[in-house]
Amino acid sequence: MRSFSALSKAEFLKESEGKAFDIAIIGGGITGAGIALEAAAKGYRVFLCEAGDFASGTSSKSTKLIHGGLRYLKNLQFGVVRNTGIEREILYKNAMHLVRPEPMLLPVVKGGSLGLFSTRMALWMYELLAGVKPEMRFKILNREKALRKEPLLDSAQLLGAALYTEYRTDDARLCISVLKKAVEFGAVCVNYAPCKEFIINHKGFIEGIVAEDASTNKKYKIKARYVVNAAGPWVDEVRKLENSNSAGNLVLSKGVHLVFPHSQLPVQQAAYFDAPGGRMVFAIPRGDKTYVGTTDTPFTGHPGEAGINIADRDYLINACKNMFPGIALRADDMISSWTGLRPLIAKPGKGTTELSRKDEIFVSRAGLISIAGGKLTGYRSMAEKVIKKLHRLGLPKQNAYFSTRKLKLSGGDFDHIDDLKNYLERQIGEAKQIGASPLTIAAWVNRYGTDTEKIVEMAYELWPQTDQKELVPLFAEINFAVHAEMACSALDFWERRTGDLYFNFENLDAQFRAGFSFLCNLLQLNNEEAAKMKYDFYAAMDKVRPVK
Ligand SMILES: Cc1cc2nc3c(=O)[nH]c(=O)nc-3n(C[C@H](O)[C@H](O)[C@H](O)COP(=O)(O)OP(=O)(O)OC[C@H]3O[C@@H](n4cnc5c(N)ncnc54)[C@H](O)[C@@H]3O)c2cc1C
Repeated sequence: MRSFSALSKAEFLKESEGKAFDIAIIGGGITGAGIALEAAAKGYRVFLCEAGDFASGTSSKSTKLIHGGLRYLKNLQFGVVRNTGIEREILYKNAMHLVRPEPMLLPVVKGGSLGLFSTRMALWMYELLAGVKPEMRFKILNREKALRKEPLLDSAQLLGAALYTEYRTDDARLCISVLKKAVEFGAVCVNYAPCKEFIINHKGFIEGIVAEDASTNKKYKIKARYVVNAAGPWVDEVRKLENSNSAGNLVLSKGVHLVFPHSQLPVQQAAYFDAPGGRMVFAIPRGDKTYVGTTDTPFTGHPGEAGINIADRDYLINACKNMFPGIALRADDMISSWTGLRPLIAKPGKGTTELSRKDEIFVSRAGLISIAGGKLTGYRSMAEKVIKKLHRLGLPKQNAYFSTRKLKLSGGDFDHIDDLKNYLERQIGEAKQIGASPLTIAAWVNRYGTDTEKIVEMAYELWPQTDQKELVPLFAEINFAVHAEMACSALDFWERRTGDLYFNFENLDAQFRAGFSFLCNLLQLNNEEAAKMKYDFYAAMDKVRPVK
């Protein structure tokens, strides 16, 4: 099986130069990852390059829900609701460790966007379209029951509530889990290797890409029959590389999320509620934190520069105070935040909130296939669509292949939630002798699923070689991230492999100090590279901190 080690990257790039791929994919977010898996599982030769780290774009900045798409009912996007409902079920079965049901409370208040009757009708329609199983169907709660579910709601304004089921996930981990499976099927996936140009033949058609290794600036020519541009908010920028005058179809909409200590926003469960101005926002408890989002405002700058401002912060804090008037939430309580960009297909005269979240595929005259729009939830069906498009463009169909409908993602080898619970118990037992607490093992099982045992194994190997025994679990996890998930820096590990940048911010500095030298040694960094990694890490910590 192909390795997915950060230390093998240069070798992968070098090897790839002499090969002829069927498909080269630009962008290692969920869209590119999904296409890589779909294509590799069907037996195609796949190359994927990502400019930064995998999932470093929008795919680590979402609301982290695998939606049935209730929000899209409002815009009458019935097809999107239906599709996301089906995909959600598939994803739950294939990645149970990363996709879990989350009961969501939808309060109905005086003067709100929906009354109790219309909420009932909307949810009925939504669940019908999304194919929700009978045991998961919504309930309407009267005022008293709603208050029992969520005592923070304003009793004077409350009319009742609906309780329905969403699914939560970890977006970056989902993306990495998809990529790891693609790699198992033989795909070559490299991060920190932006596509810089296209290889164009004498007839003016694209027949490959030039990817640059960002650590050495060395360029590699990668030949492929088809090139797919899955660069999310950067799709138009990539289209400009082919001098296409068709670029410019995208508009970007910014969405911000804030993280608070749960004690300051002590919602008993996840809620989806009206914010002043007509949008709806989520408040979702996660461990000892609650996160809130999202905003939806046009963004016209460079995608790499999107960040939170005071207006975003205040909008979300006011939305919470409006729905839960008893809370004493202040801007200073905010622990961290993230900002994502939705790449939306522009339509004249429409604002970002009105634009469809549907995906679209464009093929340029030179043959560049660009895909934009869509959702994290629908990545698999988007990938299927891209492969169908490639078939129509001339890619020969393969006879034998795996359908991704029934393909477990990396770490997702569970058939039932009880299998996952039993697995967790077993791993807690296994890990007793290497100093990993049950909480650490639970976090690993949620992140890595059945790959947890590989980390436990690494911890056993490290145990006799390490004097600081209490750091063995951290070292083992770092080791796994570098060798099995292509983590190339501290930020790759603490932001996207573990999510600690957002959800364990208060312990981050200590964790970083404890793991820094070990990580530098693993990555074989010289002093200058280590100093840069440190600088980048603290700069990222500053970026997610409260805005002044
Ligand atoms: C605020 C917000 C909340 C959301 N919430 C949800 C949700 O809860 N559930 C849901 O289903 N969906 C949600 N979405 C939508 C979902 O997150 C996106 O549809 C999805 O992440 C887009 O993935 P992508 O791979 O297309 O883009 P990205 O994740 O941005 O990936 C594109 C990648 O291309 C790379 N790239 C750019 N240029 C180059 C180049 N020249 N060479 C190589 N690589 C390049 C970038 O570095 C980037 O990593 C949300 C979106 C936002 C903004």
